[in-house]
Amino acid sequence: MSTSRSKIILVLKQHGYQGFRLTPFCNAMSDDSSNYKAYFPYSSARQGQTEMMIEIEKAVNLGINICAEAPNGFGKTCVTLSGILPWIKRNNGKVLYCARTHRQLDRVIEEMMEISKRQDVSGVSFRGRRHMCLNQFVLENADFVAPISEVCGQLKATGRCSYYEKLKRAGDPEDILEDLSKKVLTAPEIVKLAESKSMCPYEMAKRLAKVVDVVALSYLYVFDPWILDVFLPELGTSPSKMVLVQDEAHNVPATALDSASDSLTLRIIRQATREASDGPYKDGTSFELNKALTRKLLELSALMGDNDERTIDPVELIESVVLSAGFESSDRVLHHMVEHGAKIKRGLLKAGKFPRSAIHRVGDFLLEWVKVSKKKEFAFIIATTPERGSAKRVSLDRVALDPTSVTGPILGRIHSSVAISGTISPLDAYAEMLGFGSESITATFQSPFALRTRLGLVIHGLDTSFQNRNKSMFERIVEHCLAVVNATPGNTGVFTSSYSIARSLIENGFERRLKRKLFIERPGMKGNDNDRMIEEFKSKGDQGGTVLLGVQGGRNSEGGDFPGSTMDSVVVVGVPYAKPTPRMEALINYYDVVFNKKGRDYAYVLPAMTRAIQAAGRPVRRLDDKGAIVLLDQRFATPFLSRFIPFWLKEAIEVVPDNPQVVAHRVESFFMT
Ligand code: SF4
Repeated sequence: MSTSRSKIILVLKQHGYQGFRLTPFCNAMSDDSSNYKAYFPYSSARQGQTEMMIEIEKAVNLGINICAEAPNGFGKTCVTLSGILPWIKRNNGKVLYCARTHRQLDRVIEEMMEISKRQDVSGVSFRGRRHMCLNQFVLENADFVAPISEVCGQLKATGRCSYYEKLKRAGDPEDILEDLSKKVLTAPEIVKLAESKSMCPYEMAKRLAKVVDVVALSYLYVFDPWILDVFLPELGTSPSKMVLVQDEAHNVPATALDSASDSLTLRIIRQATREASDGPYKDGTSFELNKALTRKLLELSALMGDNDERTIDPVELIESVVLSAGFESSDRVLHHMVEHGAKIKRGLLKAGKFPRSAIHRVGDFLLEWVKVSKKKEFAFIIATTPERGSAKRVSLDRVALDPTSVTGPILGRIHSSVAISGTISPLDAYAEMLGFGSESITATFQSPFALRTRLGLVIHGLDTSFQNRNKSMFERIVEHCLAVVNATPGNTGVFTSSYSIARSLIENGFERRLKRKLFIERPGMKGNDNDRMIEEFKSKGDQGGTVLLGVQGGRNSEGGDFPGSTMDSVVVVGVPYAKPTPRMEALINYYDVVFNKKGRDYAYVLPAMTRAIQAAGRPVRRLDDKGAIVLLDQRFATPFLSRFIPFWLKEAIEVVPDNPQVVAHRVESFFMT
């Protein structure tokens, strides 16, 4: 392998397509267990899949990272596992398969089930303690001040969790696995099994993880430095024998930054002041420090609006607070707060109460604040956000700027990593932000059927930039949305760049003029309410069709699965650029330095385009899904933005004039053929 990053683009053409049902293996492929062919569980691999397995297997054998793009419905999960497992089995290693949603994690186990029909492989999927803990005391009391992991740790250490105590007597992990009827288990299956034995499901999953080939888990386990340090050694496999899969890898840079960032609200600081002021945990030092910190935050936020943020000097903030509280140095007082908070927690636990302490939380946050205050990889912000009533929420935010400082430590320890996504263009940009280094492979695997199953339209002459937003433009957008909806046989999704644009469409007649039912995703909508709404929306797909109005970057445009007629067409309205806030400015400036002046591209343009493409990809969840994708903004066709459009969509795109009749005609004929 050369020392420079090698790039592969495989655009595969196939004629005579016969449909896409995968059939279980029937001896059509070789059974040489030394390579991917022995693990791929279906009768034949489609074009593109074989190439992807070969490239992944090659990269893993060489111990280098690979960043691969393939469209939705390509079978990425199965292909990736089949490419990695030969090396894992030969080396007694372990696959850490990271994904974001429970559904994606279960999908890994479903594919492992298929593979286990051919080979002796094992795997488990993990969920957080909130979904795998049986201890009611923990579930009812855990919150941000006292995270579930911390309370669980204290209960285990003091022998106070009966579920854990029972599990400890269950024998070695190998024995548990041996006793099971199958060796591939989803997290819900583990919960059921452990519940029937009154044992802790989370700890049981952790034990099984030691002895299985594949562990499917949330990104948090590998990108949260605290969890990583505790979790990885418990897996009983040397990291040098681990292969890390990053599914939907376009999420990783933001997830990595989130996990290294933290926020402390004025509400918790006030809680700490009350905790220190009276009662059994009275403490003058903590009281004075928290009072001074409250004063400082009120002073800094006094002239700020309801939704505002400012960068602050982290050293100046802490020094002035410590001085105004009457202390000489932050170090002693903050350590004192952490120790005092720990004492409070121990006391509460001993008394059978939930061990939370706001003093501990503030001390802990500020110690970390001081520790990183001189590092360029962080920005320090005071932020206000509106709260119910007239109050505003004030917070101190430690904002991480360098995703590679989070991904680097894990990548440096493991054998290799495979990053996959349908929305990871340009690959070089993501490979750089993931910290993959120059010795990595980037590869695009294209669907042979893209042109037949996808219609992509960009409307020329329609520009939703801020300066162009006016009544006549919104009326024009409404005309186009109606044209697409009326020409679509099933459901249509309309995803705008913000909730305010969605509101403007309604104000300009979208709902009034629709002949189909409109479902509206609203800001702050509860998860259950949204799920119910989406279920009803989907059910109307083959009953004349309905319309979903949501936002790009929202829960439906990012995580929603809309196969078949549950969403035939999607309209993407505008480019969802983030607001130019101080934290965005800090990120752009930082990226400019570390990514060779590409700050604006990587921090600002790329996340916006990823949100837009995620929304665009909703109707094409399987390769045989027919989907019309209408991008309502001419900027999508410019060279500046089109370089961020993945191959599976770029190939299908044509630019049409700003004429709703033309759009209706194109969509109608697409669905008729
Ligand atoms: S050991 Fe298990 S059941 Fe007990 S508190 Fe922890 S996660 Fe919950």
